[in-house]
Amino acid sequence: MSKKLIGIDLGGTTVKFAILTEAGEVQQKWSIETDSDDEGSKIVPSIVASINQHLERYNMTKADFIGIVMGSPGTVDREKGTVIGAYNLNWKTLQFVKKDIEEGTGIPFAIDNDANVAALGERWKGAGENGDDVTFITLGTGVGGGIIAEGHLLHGVVGAAGEIGHITVDPEGYECTCGKRGCLETVASATGVVRVARDYADNFSGDSRLKYMIDDGQQVTAKTVFDLAKDGDVLAIKVIDKVSFYLGLACGNIGNMLNPSDIVIGGGVSAAGEFLLDQVRHYFEQFSFPQVRQSTRIKLAQLGNDAGIIGASSLARQFSKK
Ligand code: ZN
Repeated sequence: MSKKLIGIDLGGTTVKFAILTEAGEVQQKWSIETDSDDEGSKIVPSIVASINQHLERYNMTKADFIGIVMGSPGTVDREKGTVIGAYNLNWKTLQFVKKDIEEGTGIPFAIDNDANVAALGERWKGAGENGDDVTFITLGTGVGGGIIAEGHLLHGVVGAAGEIGHITVDPEGYECTCGKRGCLETVASATGVVRVARDYADNFSGDSRLKYMIDDGQQVTAKTVFDLAKDGDVLAIKVIDKVSFYLGLACGNIGNMLNPSDIVIGGGVSAAGEFLLDQVRHYFEQFSFPQVRQSTRIKLAQLGNDAGIIGASSLARQFSKK
């Protein structure tokens, strides 16, 4: 039997696991809740316990595995296998993830940033068509990104390459959690879309269900705004047009800089689908120069929640080459 890989996608609410073949076929999948109590100190022990439990259940041992790869939020040190500053996990101090998981399972372990790992997944088995130049943008509670250029995942000198969420799209814009102003994340994340909607509603006097809902104190999510825009709500259409402008501006500049074959857009907000993409493409064409416009495509992600675990196994293939 050929050896297997374990992919782990560590998130703020769930930890997703998969056992995969070297060809990236998912053979088993399971998940556990993320228990971020006690400064997140239970997370790694629960991951180790869950892996050992499942290997026993499937009659497998550590010898059956090439390695484990995890995508994690926060600042990841790939060499040391540590994570710091993953606030949705309550990991404020340095976490020795590699050391603890290798000791607990006896299987070699590697780790990278979650958006980078998802980018590898979409590149390998998703919308990226296994191309050597693929940029991935994830629109969720935040905006993340990963860049594969000439076949390599870009990390930069301190691992901050591909932080597409912090591209400035409006120098006068909203304040971002990173401390600067007008980041893409402030307007194109799930909360960003709602923020733009609230701002526009303040100055809008026409007839709009969206305005009524906001003024009435009803709960409005990014999905509400997209659904209303699809239904022809004038205010919602304006909001989505603005969000698309910001995304198109960022994509134009990414295209001009990297000329990837595909800019793949995923994450919860991208559930708005082609409706969103068509408008992003419109602005992308405005902000990209001709050769880029003709060769770089804007696409929807295809793997959904599996991008992280599949990307992790794509990284794990490196173990066998050592
Ligand atoms: Zn920022």
